[in-house]
Amino acid sequence: MIQKFYAIKNKKNEIRVQSSSGGVFYELANLIIKDGGVVYGAIYDDNNDVIHYRATKKEELYKFFGSKYVQSNIGKSYENVLKDLKNNKKVLFSGTPCQINALKTITKELHNENLYLVDIVCHGAPQIRYFNDYKRYIENKYKSKIRNINMRYKNPKKYEKNIKKENISNKVISTHTLKLELDNGKVIEEMDLFNKYYQLFDYFMGTGCFKCPFSNLNRLSDITIGDFHTFKTNLGKFNDGNGVSLVIINSTKGDKLLEQLRDTFIIMEKEKEECLQPALSNPADKPKNYDEFYDDYQKYGFEYVVKEYGPKGLKYNIKKLLYRFKFYSIIRS
Ligand SMILES: Cc1cc2nc3c(=O)[nH]c(=O)nc-3n(C[C@H](O)[C@H](O)[C@H](O)COP(=O)(O)OP(=O)(O)OC[C@H]3O[C@@H](n4cnc5c(N)ncnc54)[C@H](O)[C@@H]3O)c2cc1C
Ligand code: SF4
Repeated sequence: MIQKFYAIKNKKNEIRVQSSSGGVFYELANLIIKDGGVVYGAIYDDNNDVIHYRATKKEELYKFFGSKYVQSNIGKSYENVLKDLKNNKKVLFSGTPCQINALKTITKELHNENLYLVDIVCHGAPQIRYFNDYKRYIENKYKSKIRNINMRYKNPKKYEKNIKKENISNKVISTHTLKLELDNGKVIEEMDLFNKYYQLFDYFMGTGCFKCPFSNLNRLSDITIGDFHTFKTNLGKFNDGNGVSLVIINSTKGDKLLEQLRDTFIIMEKEKEECLQPALSNPADKPKNYDEFYDDYQKYGFEYVVKEYGPKGLKYNIKKLLYRFKFYSIIRS
């Protein structure tokens, strides 16, 4: 079928506020669970490691909320999907396009009407060792264990305010705020521009991401979900600053799934050209000094590269200052 493109927001604020974008995934998962099926996706485990998890109950679906910007440990998920399909269960599997590709290869002969595939638009996923190093760096610095991680934190108060004022600015979009809650009660909340993990994101990605064959519109899934970027189109009042999902329907099966959820969402149909963004056009650019970074990381460790490769200089400090004085949305545009 011809792909369909949408900008979508969940009508339920309590779902959208916990989701990274417009809160589409939760509803897809809920639909499958209601139908007696099982859902696979990325969660934080008790050690705050990111793993792929198999959920069978609605009460577990909150675990999937939010983008975890690290490669998830797939564990035995592919084998378990095979077992579920053999037992005639409905399965919704979500993940990065390369995980979808791997699953499709493994389930080839079992790929059937019971398997629903949802992939994310993917700029690239940092490697697990850097995520572990970052967690250790924070725990050493603050002498406390991390209790909770949210890489796309939406402040509920700000969320409410945005709803009321119906922010129609095309500039306000960045919800990439990393929030860490520590055992000693400390809470760290940092926007991407100021956070060490986000600042070095592209250095943390594996080399495969810079040659990714899935950074385009040839999707292997039934439904693709991402952030609706407003580079190409102004969403007007639809963009209240609280997150809007881009949804691409790639198959009749995906189309039928979305149809069943029409009443749950506010939906705007879009043209393909309005939905394009870097991760749908080309693989990410490899940082020029990526190899040097890697050598230094091997030789001197995480803290060294964080200091040496993070942004510095006058331009950056001016941005930081402007942000403090709340001019940030102006300079981002
Ligand atoms: C590593 C990564 C890179 C991304 N890059 C882009 C991008 O360049 N452009 C863009 O528009 N969107 C990108 N996204 C997708 C976007 O951030 C949201 O995940 C997506 O829009 C879904 O949002 P939601 O509100 O519907 O649901 P949410 O509740 O926010 O997301 C939950 C879904 O994300 C999946 N997920 C979360 N973390 C991972 C992970 N580590 N590995 C595999 N699946 C995961 C879960 O399995 C679940 O399906 C990226 C996400 C990740 C994890
Ligand atoms: S950019 Fe491509 S290779 Fe890298 S995690 Fe995403 S889908 Fe996989």
